[in-house]
Amino acid sequence: MSSLDIGRLAAYAKEQGFLYPSSEIYDGLGGVYDYGPLGVELKRRLIDLWWRAMVHLHEHIVGLDAAILMHPRVWEASGHVEAFHDPLVDNKVSKKRYRVDTLIEEYAQKLEERAQKEVQKQLRKQNLPPEALAEKLTAHRDYQRAQNLRQRLHQALATQDWPALTRLLEEEKIPCPESGSTEWTPVRQFNLMFSTQLGAVAEEAITLYLRPETAQGIFVDFPLVLKTARMKIPFGIAQVGKAFRNEIVARQFIFRMREFEQMEMQFFVRPGTEAEWYAYWREKRLRWHQHLGLHPENLRFKDHETLAHYAKAATDIEFRFPFGFRELEGIHSRTDYDLSRHSQYSGKKLEYYDEELGQSYVPYVIETSVGVDRLVLAHLSQAYTEEPAPTAEGGQEMRTVLKLHPLLAPISVAIFPLVRKEEFIQKARALYEELRFHFLVAYEEKDSIGRRYRRYDAKGTPFAITIDGQTLEDDTVTVRDRDTLAQERIPLAGVLAYLTEKLSVASWLRTL
Ligand code: ATP
Repeated sequence: MSSLDIGRLAAYAKEQGFLYPSSEIYDGLGGVYDYGPLGVELKRRLIDLWWRAMVHLHEHIVGLDAAILMHPRVWEASGHVEAFHDPLVDNKVSKKRYRVDTLIEEYAQKLEERAQKEVQKQLRKQNLPPEALAEKLTAHRDYQRAQNLRQRLHQALATQDWPALTRLLEEEKIPCPESGSTEWTPVRQFNLMFSTQLGAVAEEAITLYLRPETAQGIFVDFPLVLKTARMKIPFGIAQVGKAFRNEIVARQFIFRMREFEQMEMQFFVRPGTEAEWYAYWREKRLRWHQHLGLHPENLRFKDHETLAHYAKAATDIEFRFPFGFRELEGIHSRTDYDLSRHSQYSGKKLEYYDEELGQSYVPYVIETSVGVDRLVLAHLSQAYTEEPAPTAEGGQEMRTVLKLHPLLAPISVAIFPLVRKEEFIQKARALYEELRFHFLVAYEEKDSIGRRYRRYDAKGTPFAITIDGQTLEDDTVTVRDRDTLAQERIPLAGVLAYLTEKLSVASWLRTL
């Protein structure tokens, strides 16, 4: 997977109908994508399995679907108006625009990799044991420089000190990755929220924002959910929905988009119990990803070194994307910050009366927040495989196969009559008519059976059922497994039961 180029994956995703650039006939819109016929199925399955695992399986979590447009005061209370900024800079030679933090972070990473390579070479030359690496590395000039860059970067970001970032770029002569030039404009801040107008008359219109995260809908509706759903602490509210961020540089395919979808859950707990719930959700969420087939070696936790002033702990579940480990999901212990701020700004009490304790308090919050599109990208990039496979003639050919978890596969099963003859077709169509009430099923009679298998391998279809000569004699069919290529012969009358067992969401949830 590491050799998989993101451009190649994007081309494949477009060709197969997973993802298209938005408004392509008008040359596209940066950082905005449409989900095609296969993509929308994959995305909906991911959302459904998250919802089932979070809401249906947890007695104390309920769902919500808050509106995208919210009262403008929400974003003042949340801190987004004041602090949801990214620092941006333009290179004077290439005219390219960058987010300063990613520019510096990527440069520091390059320095570190260079240091590592050099030290490894030295170790080999001097015949030193691998244990000597850490010590040599920390003494290396480039390594030290990378650490220093990061430290200055974090300090400047924490205090939103943009002139300090301008000085950092100048003093450290950070080059533009495109032109190599070190001539930069001063660093400016850029609010990531999209704004729009509410109201028909320009003078009276109110400025609204498209929500940059779904979480605030949950906080604002907290008292209503508490009351109407009669919740008792600890409890959670889950939501799936679109979020919008005017990202300075939208790139790496659907990793960083301007319109994307989040699945967030806020878990409200008694103050003092947040550490145990944070640990609980950290493990639970990692397990969910693994249970859907993301390999453990492609997942890791990255605890935040610098925390927001109100946060007690924060970690990212990172996934090894084709361009390296990056954030897939965030898990945050956020204290009573959000509810307290909304209480302050709205003048309404956002408290919980704890009968056991006989007192009221503002609950603490543990948040889990994952981007659906990043999840789609993680699964596509891990599942995409090019490998040699046997041909019907006994030779070998390369096949492209999407090894998705069967529950995620857009088309669950494909049905093929071996030859285009009436008696084969009749049986195949009858099976199709039965199965389509249960799964998304494809039926195909065109081209050789080998080509049909390959076509559905590339779409990620886990089961292919063939009606062949023997079916006409004894009413059995073959079921071909996408990954192992093994073919099993089972009775036609048993196909539904066979697939129902293999594609059972309940069994998957039971072992979660
Ligand atoms: P990053 O550091 O990558 O910008 P973030 O820390 O700002 O992400 P959060 O605000 O914690 O992200 O958002 C929660 C989740 O939403 C992220 O883990 C990610 O999966 C998703 N997400 C955030 N921004 C985007 C985006 N621009 N495009 C796609 N998904 C996103």
